[in-house]
Amino acid sequence: MTELYLTNSLTRKKEKFEPINPPNVGMYTCGPTVYDYASIGNFRTYVTGDILVRTLKYNGYQVRYVMNFTDVGHLTGDNLGDADTGVDRLVKAAKRERKTAWDIAKFYTEAFLKDFEKLNLTKADTFAKATDHIKDQMDLIKKLEENGITYKIPDGIYFDTIEFEKSTGKKYGELSTLDQIKEGARVKVNKAKKNPRDFALWKFSDPSEKRDMEWDSPWGVGFPGWHIECSAMSMKYLGETFDIHAGGEDLRSTHHPNEIAQSEGATGKKFVKYWIHGAFLKVDGKRMGKSLGNFYTITDIEKKGYGALALRYFYLTGKYNEPLNFTWDSLKSSQQALDKLNEQVLAAKTQNTRTSLSEEKRKKVDGFSSRFLEAVNDDLNTPRALAVLWDAMKSNIPSEDKYDLALSFDEVLGLKLSEVQEIKFEIPEEVGKLISKREKLRKEGKFDEADNVRKNIEEKGFLLEDTPEGLRVKTFK
Ligand code: AMP
Ligand code: ZN
Repeated sequence: MTELYLTNSLTRKKEKFEPINPPNVGMYTCGPTVYDYASIGNFRTYVTGDILVRTLKYNGYQVRYVMNFTDVGHLTGDNLGDADTGVDRLVKAAKRERKTAWDIAKFYTEAFLKDFEKLNLTKADTFAKATDHIKDQMDLIKKLEENGITYKIPDGIYFDTIEFEKSTGKKYGELSTLDQIKEGARVKVNKAKKNPRDFALWKFSDPSEKRDMEWDSPWGVGFPGWHIECSAMSMKYLGETFDIHAGGEDLRSTHHPNEIAQSEGATGKKFVKYWIHGAFLKVDGKRMGKSLGNFYTITDIEKKGYGALALRYFYLTGKYNEPLNFTWDSLKSSQQALDKLNEQVLAAKTQNTRTSLSEEKRKKVDGFSSRFLEAVNDDLNTPRALAVLWDAMKSNIPSEDKYDLALSFDEVLGLKLSEVQEIKFEIPEEVGKLISKREKLRKEGKFDEADNVRKNIEEKGFLLEDTPEGLRVKTFK
């Protein structure tokens, strides 16, 4: 049996995975801030979480999976390096869309879950909203207060990182390197804080402004700081010490060290055994950002005629903790690869070639199974796992075994290979006309013009393939 190895950000090493209470595994992923549609960058991180959950299950573990929805307290200052400054992202979105913060949260949570399903992501056993857990957060702050590691300044109750170190003997910021989180790294720092690393646990409402979301507390009317929700909710559902905590690499420098400090400051126990961080997705080699015009959503992908599962396939072509660069061409290649894979799985499903399995073929089938497990267990090496699947599909093993292997591997890959079926679709009249026009241009030798027409057809969601048997039309809608 191959053992599972994961890169643990705490030790910065690939470590053998040994759960605290086998065969149970508790896992928490930092979920979205529901103030806008999630981007294909955000979804890279959630696909990583999903692959991890599926891999754990593939290895026979019983996983309890928790994901949060941040619907209050995540301030815009986070972009500038200090999450305690700026405005609440939901409040900003509410102003933009002339809705309440509650409406914003509901709308974008639902939108997120729709995309989540399209990407075939494993549903968390608990999806926990920050606003449903205000009392849990207050209780945790009270514990920290009792332990003497909080202080009050005009805008809220803060976590005292120096007192935390003194009282627990633990070091703040194990996950990141201290020089990454020192004052110089921050653009705007709340000067009233005792130490730049300290962070808000409870923020007071601005008396000049009525917030949609605010609560009475022992400290005054206000709302929780961003980090406290993850400590409160993860420990509520998974216990004070649990196995795995995942998120994007940006959370490694502040949000996650703060979660550790809050949780360990309250309980005195180790919070999480394995910290898993996914690398960011880039677009055309650049950071993705709304202001840069390269912030794409699942809807944008679909509008161009691609399926969400093609995007999932694309994510799997990269290892989760290495950078991955999105381009429309790479998505197109992934769509083509996924289509081919579906074709092969369908062919394997419908062909019946098995006589009796020779010793040599039996060995091959077993070899594919163990190579696949080795790949995913080697720190979720999905590119290698995909290569094993392709090798199996191209091999000379009987179709039934190909089909069985594909479905087994798909328990981890999640490409819905069991649902493949002959796609029957109608070509709309306008697309039909464009196809004829392209054929005519090609006959006349006007290949550039014909290619432009093909692009036009692709924009409408149809792909053309010139095969030896003639033209083939495919759709992803
Ligand atoms: P947010 O909604 O901003 O709280 O982010 C939700 C999750 O998406 C966090 O785990 C982030 O680390 C992650 N994330 C944000 N941008 C990217 C990106 N470009 N690539 C991968 N993950 C990202
Ligand atoms: Zn979190």
